[in-house]
Amino acid sequence: MTIKCKKCKSEAIFFQKYSGLHLCKKHFIADVERKIKLTVRKYYGIRKNDVIAVALSGGKDSAVALYVLQKILGGRPDVKLVAITVDEGIEKHRTPSLKAAKELATRLRVRHIVKSFREEHGITMDEIAVKEREKGTCSYCGVLRKNILNRVALDIGATKLVTGHNLDDEAQTILLNHFRGDMERMVRLRPPAAVEGLVLRAKPLRNVPEKEIALYAILHELPVDFGKCPYVGEAMRREIRVMLNEFEVRHPGTKYALLRGFDKLVGALAKELPPAEVSKCRICGETCSEELCQACKLLGKGKEKGMTGKV
Ligand code: SF4
Repeated sequence: MTIKCKKCKSEAIFFQKYSGLHLCKKHFIADVERKIKLTVRKYYGIRKNDVIAVALSGGKDSAVALYVLQKILGGRPDVKLVAITVDEGIEKHRTPSLKAAKELATRLRVRHIVKSFREEHGITMDEIAVKEREKGTCSYCGVLRKNILNRVALDIGATKLVTGHNLDDEAQTILLNHFRGDMERMVRLRPPAAVEGLVLRAKPLRNVPEKEIALYAILHELPVDFGKCPYVGEAMRREIRVMLNEFEVRHPGTKYALLRGFDKLVGALAKELPPAEVSKCRICGETCSEELCQACKLLGKGKEKGMTGKV
């Protein structure tokens, strides 16, 4: 027996457990795009002469972000989309994802900039992983990648920097920060966080579950690399991911509830807090909150000059 779409009675291809809706291909696609448009409108807005840089990793999330933004904004001559890919120097992982990113940018006719850890920081993640394994490779990778993305986005005059964070990523990060008692990071998570010297970060997929993004990418046959990085994520995040997925099965809507609660709580809290104090890194000039930026600290540049990294 075929199950019918709740909206049009065509054959359903997806059951959205948290809403109770069976959806056909057309209405599933429309639902994903509606959520993305709503998020863009509510938090980020698109203005005349916006230059939107999209961090394109070659994975499904950033591919869907670029594809949908191109679909929504491609017809606007006053808005420019640029894709930026950072090659971290993870040999087995990066080759296929870089290829997928190039293919998508070419297919969508979007300008594509590729920068590498090697050329920007003089080291690759494979080299860092050998030397610094005990500190956790992902903390290095995240900081060094963000540093490059922000610099390139500033160079091209970008007004927004889009990342592919989805609902699952956001819900995991909210719980992770709760478990660590890290309120500062919590507040920083709230969109939009405009800070001088940092291009405004935008997460248009934050209201779309990871599973739906994967299906959207497959239905559109987007060139995507589904491979996993050999250094994978932090152990605690992995545990939270498993726990949240189990909760979502037993209590559909848990991830949405976490995000909604967080937005309300931090939205109210952020009004009470003074704006973040920012300064310029004394080594590279990057905007940061201390004497040295995280990237220079991690690369040990402060030690060479006898700096502590604290103000
Ligand atoms: Fe970098 Fe960690 Fe992601 Fe691998 S899993 S790409 S090391 S952040």
